[in-house]
Amino acid sequence: MVCLPLHKLGKILETHVKSQGTAEIKYGRKVVEIGEYADKSKAWVKVEKADGSTEIREADYVVGCDGANSIIRRKLFGDWVYPGYTWDKQIVATNIYYDGFKDVDFDDSQFFVHPEHWHMVARIQPDGLYRVTYGEIGGLTYDQLKERQPAKFQAILPGNPTPDKYGLVNFSPYKVHQRCVDRMRVGRFLLAADAAHLCNPFGGMGLTGGIADVGSLYDSLRGIDNNKADDSILDKYDEVRRRIWHEVIDPISTENMQRLFQYQNADEFVNKDPLYKLVREMQNPDKKLEKGGPPNASVTVSQRWLWS
Ligand SMILES: Cc1cc2nc3c(=O)[nH]c(=O)nc-3n(C[C@H](O)[C@H](O)[C@H](O)COP(=O)(O)OP(=O)(O)OC[C@H]3O[C@@H](n4cnc5c(N)ncnc54)[C@H](O)[C@@H]3O)c2cc1C
Repeated sequence: MVCLPLHKLGKILETHVKSQGTAEIKYGRKVVEIGEYADKSKAWVKVEKADGSTEIREADYVVGCDGANSIIRRKLFGDWVYPGYTWDKQIVATNIYYDGFKDVDFDDSQFFVHPEHWHMVARIQPDGLYRVTYGEIGGLTYDQLKERQPAKFQAILPGNPTPDKYGLVNFSPYKVHQRCVDRMRVGRFLLAADAAHLCNPFGGMGLTGGIADVGSLYDSLRGIDNNKADDSILDKYDEVRRRIWHEVIDPISTENMQRLFQYQNADEFVNKDPLYKLVREMQNPDKKLEKGGPPNASVTVSQRWLWS
């Protein structure tokens, strides 16, 4: 599996957009106001440039893919209208160099199930940079989280290291949400990706769900441009992508996160967890897999929960 940090993925996407020749990327511009002309013939956005000047840009359609704090969504529905909830737990994403990982038989990525110290470890660079994301109780401030970090690493990392044993190069706390708007299309405005829906990151369904939105939206807009569809196809986009969030992305990502902290011990996990059962079945060489191919997941269960 390849885990790409966002800034590297961004560069790859930028190269592809530039090679199309039909799109131009303008940096350093912030949308501050939006609207539609009275005759509904076009949508417009007011854009603030880095030097403070503003300009109006108009288009047949405006797609708001401006992230979780989307100004387009806030202007369409209101500042605090984003249906769903925020988890009562938060996560802290860190990047570290730590020699102690060499002493254990880790795969490129692994998830650790534990009622208090649930976490994930993934190697994200060939030079040995690891992403360690761990769960924390909600409501703590940045400073409180920072203060607790050394004890957390001592509890969860192999070798129970003190801070002098690893290099912490990134420390980013995140609140975690499950949210989806009631409409991804309002007139000539469309919403996609985090601007339209959010999920917790366990299972990697956030960015990928957003990319699937944009794929569907591209096909819809292209259909309108080629006179193969009328603009009601954009209502279909709204209907289908929200259905997929509610029926697939939300329940699966919710289960993925709950799995990490809901079991009190290894026996309970082994006896109750449906994903664990599924993976064990996949590992059974006598059992024919419906779609064939080798199993690509494994679960190791150890009663020794932490590295102590
Ligand atoms: C810790 C963590 C780990 C994650 N891990 C994964 C993972 O493993 N796999 C996965 O699939 N997803 C993951 N996600 C989710 C993923 O990062 C997001 O779903 C994804 O980045 C959303 O992309 P986006 O383009 O919608 O929004 P963003 O990436 O937030 O991009 C929004 C863009 O809009 C710009 N913008 C904002 N406001 C304005 C404005 N007013 N005017 C103009 N531009 C504006 C911003 O500058 C930014 O460039 C993770 C998220 C977190 C927090």
